[in-house]
Amino acid sequence: MSWEENVRKVVPYTPGEQPKIKNIIKLNTNENPYPPAPSVYKAYEETELDDYRKYPDPTCSILVDSIASFYGVKKENVFVGVGSDDVLSMAFLTFFNSDKPILFPDITYSFYDVWADLYRIPYKQIPLNEDFTIDPADYHAENGGVVIANPNAPTGVKLGLEAIEDIIKSNPDVVVIVDEAYVDFGAETALPLIDKYDNLLVVRTYSKSRSLAGLRIGYAFGCEKLIKYLSDAKFSFNSYTMNMPSLTLGAAAMKDKEYFEETTAKVVATRERVKIQLKELGFEFGDSATNFIFARHPKMAGKEIFDYLRAHDIIVRRFNKPERISEYLRISIGTDEEMDTLISVLKEIV
Ligand code: PMP
Repeated sequence: MSWEENVRKVVPYTPGEQPKIKNIIKLNTNENPYPPAPSVYKAYEETELDDYRKYPDPTCSILVDSIASFYGVKKENVFVGVGSDDVLSMAFLTFFNSDKPILFPDITYSFYDVWADLYRIPYKQIPLNEDFTIDPADYHAENGGVVIANPNAPTGVKLGLEAIEDIIKSNPDVVVIVDEAYVDFGAETALPLIDKYDNLLVVRTYSKSRSLAGLRIGYAFGCEKLIKYLSDAKFSFNSYTMNMPSLTLGAAAMKDKEYFEETTAKVVATRERVKIQLKELGFEFGDSATNFIFARHPKMAGKEIFDYLRAHDIIVRRFNKPERISEYLRISIGTDEEMDTLISVLKEIV
């Protein structure tokens, strides 16, 4: 017998490329094209590097308090992690501990099946409707938990709050995770439902609408009991997940509501303009409520468009699996200038 037989083998998630070269139009990982809030720059300048000698606050109070205060919830309703990937991974580990399969769509964030495999959680992928919408009735079957990204990724399509509530209500015996990574760009949040349903975990991130993907901050809302279970698992894993810059700069970012609203509105306005331009070029796509558009061209292969853009220093994202989406490109919304360049390069080929 070899030690390799006992290895926890996994097929890892493939993150989007982070190219080293500058002067590239990077539309492949849904980052915000605008810089972090002015309040973050100020907090950065006030940083005392001497403090880094010590461990950070394991309770993350400065960050948790700022999030609780922004969203009008109690600090006991808030959990924080190293990006929402860390929050989601902890939630899978904590809440999905049944022999019954957890349910999530066949086309969704491609990390869900990776965490399920890693933790040996059985899962069932439910096909999206032809138009990429989710049918809440599909989630009434017996299961060990449910995960829904709203809006969904990489499709960009949102689900109404009534449908989300239907899924939570019809699954009282399991935890329902609603991944709201992109909610600020156009969907309705399930946050108010945490008072009504003790089985709901709402997951958010600083990586998209808060322009801080580099700091790696994610957070989640749930009833006190749910958050306590999540914290117990986290403290059994690593006490100090959040480093000092994430705590102080993350807290500062939450304080700048005006900047957050202004940049989010700018991204949404650009997205709506680009939708019209892409449509004029013959692209087909669902109605995105996110900071990206998931589109295909009926007359041209996805790979061909991808390669042409790449040759012109524009990077978008393409997924090989499942088959149903292999012709699609996921195009993040950049600045107006970047999107103008994208459109003019696309005009050359389609
Ligand atoms: N959920 C969804 C749906 C995403 O697209 C992403 C971004 N890759 C994440 C969660 C994770 O984002 P982060 O870890 O940067 O918070």
